[in-house]
Amino acid sequence: MGKKIKDLTSSGGDEDRKIKRKRKLEEEAQINGEVIETPEISASKKSDKKKKKKEKKNGKEAENTQLENGSKLSEGFNGESGKKKKKKEEKRDGEVGEEEKKSYGVVVVSGKNSGDSKYAPLSSFADSKLPDNVLECCKGFAKPSPIQAHAWPFLLDNRDLIGIAQTGSGKTLAFGIPAIMHVLGKRKDEKSRRVNPLCLFLSPTRELAQQIADVLCDAGKSCGIKTACFYGGTSKGPQLSALKSGIDIAIGTPGRLKDLIEMGACRLQDVSFVVLDEADRMLDMGFEQDVRSILSKTNSARQMVMFSATWPMEVHQLAQEFMDPNPIKVVVGSEDLAANHDVMQIVEVLEENTRDRRLVALLDKYHESQKNRVIVFVLYQKEGDRVERMLQGRGWNVVAIHAGKPQSTRTKSLALFKSGTCPLLIATDVAARGLDIPDVEVVINYSFPLTTEDYVHRIGRTGRAGKKGVAHTFFTKENKGLAGELVNVLREANQHIPPDLVKFGTHVKKKESKLYGAHFREITADAPKATKITFADSDDE
Ligand code: AMP
Repeated sequence: MGKKIKDLTSSGGDEDRKIKRKRKLEEEAQINGEVIETPEISASKKSDKKKKKKEKKNGKEAENTQLENGSKLSEGFNGESGKKKKKKEEKRDGEVGEEEKKSYGVVVVSGKNSGDSKYAPLSSFADSKLPDNVLECCKGFAKPSPIQAHAWPFLLDNRDLIGIAQTGSGKTLAFGIPAIMHVLGKRKDEKSRRVNPLCLFLSPTRELAQQIADVLCDAGKSCGIKTACFYGGTSKGPQLSALKSGIDIAIGTPGRLKDLIEMGACRLQDVSFVVLDEADRMLDMGFEQDVRSILSKTNSARQMVMFSATWPMEVHQLAQEFMDPNPIKVVVGSEDLAANHDVMQIVEVLEENTRDRRLVALLDKYHESQKNRVIVFVLYQKEGDRVERMLQGRGWNVVAIHAGKPQSTRTKSLALFKSGTCPLLIATDVAARGLDIPDVEVVINYSFPLTTEDYVHRIGRTGRAGKKGVAHTFFTKENKGLAGELVNVLREANQHIPPDLVKFGTHVKKKESKLYGAHFREITADAPKATKITFADSDDE
């Protein structure tokens, strides 16, 4: 298996970051026994060239070309010679624009035959040779985003694919356009319109499912594709009617889809294109059994696509079970836990019982106009309700979203926030990931999340599309176990580190690889299952 790495940050990133990334990539390549190549590695290789020559002369095969599992750096894709492989990588590297280098970080492509020239990334929409009506929805974009440019050639060739990319990278159309092409391809051979769906997209949250459905509905319009969205908390009536009248693409959350399948209303035997979006979050939220059960109902000759922000053991297991044994993997963006550098991070250490007062003072400062979008993140539903009442009592125009609210309220609150009618939103982590909400100026973390990853996702709601944002975070002694990790995130982004935060200590628990988990290669089917700890009032769907 080969692995290509394109340094897309060479024009902007600082030296420390590059060295860190290089080490991390090398470490992970060793874990996975994969072939890696970055410009940094190439540069350091050049400087080592003389040394290596000497070693070879002495009859020694350079030890550092031997990876832990016995594969060699010199082996390319499909066992091609290193020379040949290098040529292809260089060709693909050259096709990445400077603009993308700044905005997306590293792109890594690996998997069987991934170096084949037919999978070269697209440099324009015209390159894709897709019909005009399919590309109609991309008219406003200059060119395919990196995840689209790299994923489309594989997906249009029916390859299984794992995408590690965040919301905002254009990933919905990265899998949405190939899904549309899949439907058009199948439909062309049929005389009558199908009733059962051909494509299935699973999402962990209702809001993300709706967001995907909106994008697909818009993109499919010009090609006559029928989509429908299925999630709980709303009446089944319209969903049943949609299924009865026939749809091409079903989008939904696992719980409601399973209900509809059990009722015999949703039949998945014709589904031959499946997308699991935010697979890691889906499993975090306890949907594993539902997902397995749903996947087992789809056509066994399906094409599988999985998107995930991280690559933990459970997601890897699911991929092993339901995907081609050697899927393509496309990684877009930094693999390190790093905050968006366009966000100014302010951390305030305070006593828990002073947070209400401080929140009001901060809203006076950041939300004075009451027109700019501000999100206040809380941890628990009850806390969200209490803060909502407190702010409403003080005259603020505010809406709230959490998994304990009726779906109609959630949908309405989000719509009011998105439209700017009510630009102040209180949210639990149900809104921390996945939602593409434009122009959020400020994020206030009223409560610190349970993990630093969630912190990074939360503050990533601001500073999008090249704009600057502010994230103001309350940190109390109850959160001290995460102080070390937070200090690292702040330091990496060159942000001020408050001395009060450092007083909690800077110890960081050893973490598993963010992408591959701790034991990427050692997983066996009978490996013990991780225990899921559920908090009484936590915000699972
Ligand atoms: P995602 O949530 O990852 O699907 O990203 C969605 C955002 O990316 C939306 O605001 C889209 O309008 C935007 N987007 C999708 N494709 C492109 C593209 N090729 N160029 C620029 N923006 C894009």
